[in-house]
Amino acid sequence: MSDFADLTDEDAWEAVMRRDRAFDGQFVTGVFSTGIYCRPSCAARHPVRKNVRFFADGDAAQGAGLRACKRCKPDDVARDEAAVLSAIHAIKQHEGRVTLDHLAQRTGYSPAHFQRVFKRATGMSPAIYSRALREDRARDALTHANTVSDAVYDAGFEAPSRFYDAMEGKLGMQASDWSKGGAGISVHWSVVDTSLGAMLVAATDKGVCCLSFNEGENELRARFPKAELVVGGDAFEKLLTQIVQAVKQPASNNEHIPLDVKGTAFQQRCWQALRQIPAGETRSYGEQAAMLGNPKASRAVGSANGANNIAVLIPCHRVVPASGGVGGYAYGPEIKAELLKREGNR
Ligand SMILES: [Zn+2]
Repeated sequence: MSDFADLTDEDAWEAVMRRDRAFDGQFVTGVFSTGIYCRPSCAARHPVRKNVRFFADGDAAQGAGLRACKRCKPDDVARDEAAVLSAIHAIKQHEGRVTLDHLAQRTGYSPAHFQRVFKRATGMSPAIYSRALREDRARDALTHANTVSDAVYDAGFEAPSRFYDAMEGKLGMQASDWSKGGAGISVHWSVVDTSLGAMLVAATDKGVCCLSFNEGENELRARFPKAELVVGGDAFEKLLTQIVQAVKQPASNNEHIPLDVKGTAFQQRCWQALRQIPAGETRSYGEQAAMLGNPKASRAVGSANGANNIAVLIPCHRVVPASGGVGGYAYGPEIKAELLKREGNR
């Protein structure tokens, strides 16, 4: 941000031509043909250059006999900034759930005028800004795996849809109490060679808790820091045989393999939605979000898919970008592409 004294008339004129908001408050544009002065970003029709003189502020322009433009209210720049900052503070404090009327009232502007002021400063309406904030909150809640599931809904999302209510408990997913890093839980594990590379499989007595590629004990330890890690085991070996088969033929029905998931309620909803996508088909992130009753939550859904510990059996590989291609995958796009190919995609 430069000072008026450092600005050439040329720079100022270019800022006016661009209606550059960044220069609001740094100078005003005096227009002698109309007798008014404007902020640089004024949306009114541009004046003719020869009628224009620039002033440091409204006082100086008034000293030259000009009066403030009623449209852009050049003397309100500071007040507008304060109003927008105060509104942003209120929106954050109320987690994105505060009405335009309430915001306007706080600032002393009419709702319509405040909406314009806010949009001019941030590029979005207060409603869009609030929603973006809620989505960011949701994403933050999701990246911190141990946050309480309901944080997602506290962040402003709707309650889960009937889709989830109907599916709950029907998909062989259980969850151990992972809240203490897995303390008191035994995790049996092994790494086996497969045509997709080294595959790490781990399970508790409730079911498979991890299936990943090109990982070993260190990565497993990072996922379940306080669990007791046990190599192999009789019951585990039986399960392992089924899993190796499932990975060879990911299109086969794997629903009989029990899963022990570790995630927030929202993440579990996302994973159950994944298990509803038939082999041989794919969905976009937006479509998966729609399955959960909120088509706009595609970013939150993408994060939840990324937090999935159980590849293949919870088929996050069946979600691909709407724009085409296989998209990202925790274990590399080659493995994702190969899984899709084995299921008959492309
Ligand atoms: Zn104006």
